[in-house]
Amino acid sequence: MTEYKTCNKCSYDILDSEGEVMEHECLTHKRMNDINTFQAHENEVYLRGTDEYGDDFQICFDSYNFIEWIDSEQLEYIKQQLTKYINEK
Ligand SMILES: [Zn+2]
Repeated sequence: MTEYKTCNKCSYDILDSEGEVMEHECLTHKRMNDINTFQAHENEVYLRGTDEYGDDFQICFDSYNFIEWIDSEQLEYIKQQLTKYINEK
């Protein structure tokens, strides 16, 4: 089973040939809590909620790109990962 290593700051998990987290400039990492709005409008998908500081926060995706990445296979994977997490708690 592959052991994933993840940057503690930004969750980047691309590994180098030694199996360590590849050197990188940490990505902007924001956490969205309490999602309260989902909206698909024209060619964009929006999620709104609050960030790690409790401030309102919105993220906008290109709809085509979103569908390309997040389909039923990914939703199934998210469920599997969540189930694993819950069972380990
Ligand atoms: Zn990082």
